[in-house]
Amino acid sequence: PTDSRVALITGANKGIGLEIARGLGRHGITVLLGCRNEALGRDAAGHLTQEGLHAHALTLDVTDAASAQDAAARIAQRFGRLDILVNNAGIAAREEADAAREGKPLVDVEVMRRVYETNVFGPVAVTQAMLPLLRQAPAGRIVNVSSGLGSLTNMSDPSHPYAGLAVPAYASSKAALNGVTAQLAKVLKDTPIKVNSACPGHCATDLNRHSGPRTPAQGAVTPIRLALLPADGPTGGFFNDEGALPW
Ligand code: NDP
Repeated sequence: PTDSRVALITGANKGIGLEIARGLGRHGITVLLGCRNEALGRDAAGHLTQEGLHAHALTLDVTDAASAQDAAARIAQRFGRLDILVNNAGIAAREEADAAREGKPLVDVEVMRRVYETNVFGPVAVTQAMLPLLRQAPAGRIVNVSSGLGSLTNMSDPSHPYAGLAVPAYASSKAALNGVTAQLAKVLKDTPIKVNSACPGHCATDLNRHSGPRTPAQGAVTPIRLALLPADGPTGGFFNDEGALPW
């Protein structure tokens, strides 16, 4: 590697996560693709390796705290360091998206629990497992891949393009994730670690049945920028390609 840094990207076998891994890999950083499906992870890492990047698959289901602890132990043993954590793995609830499309929004505690397990408790568990390594890094960076749908300001602005869209589980999970970002930045304020939320914009991926106008590579731009922030960069913020977003 041309850069000694090591980055872990969760949910990196496809979509925006794969592009974040590719982009960080092109900076010469060693990228660890955290994937719940071992075979899919190996394939994705194989593609990046063929492109000349330093990529490795790491089995990691973000909804399983033991899996996150195990992944941290493997990183410590094999690589001895972790500089960048991108909490990218996320899900939307298909039934919630379908109900929204039909104009009959759902509020269902089981749907919400399932979405929160991946989108909120997942990043918290993975961050907790990786923090000892990130604290040892000279300039640790944590990026939580959120969404403009999680902005309470956007939700309460009737003229906002997403104002009419009611996806309570998904949108509130990203609002909660943003809260985690802001609070974690306070916890880490006396360390060199920076933690920020990113909105990738509406990208065509499996998550939304490829409905977005942007490419996954375009969606990766802001997460990559936040992963590579210099020492005088922001912490505890929420950003997209255009700049700061309102909470
Ligand atoms: P994809 O569905 O293409 O990719 C999601 C990735 O997350 C997959 O690799 C998936 O793995 C992984 N994943 C899901 N659950 C887990 C889990 N429990 N453990 C580990 N990995 C898991 O979606 P996107 O690339 O679009 O989404 C990436 C992030 O971007 C998400 O957080 C999403 O909310 C966010 N986002 C996306 C937008 C868009 O327009 N696409 C807009 C705003 C935010 P597997 O293949 O095994 O299912």
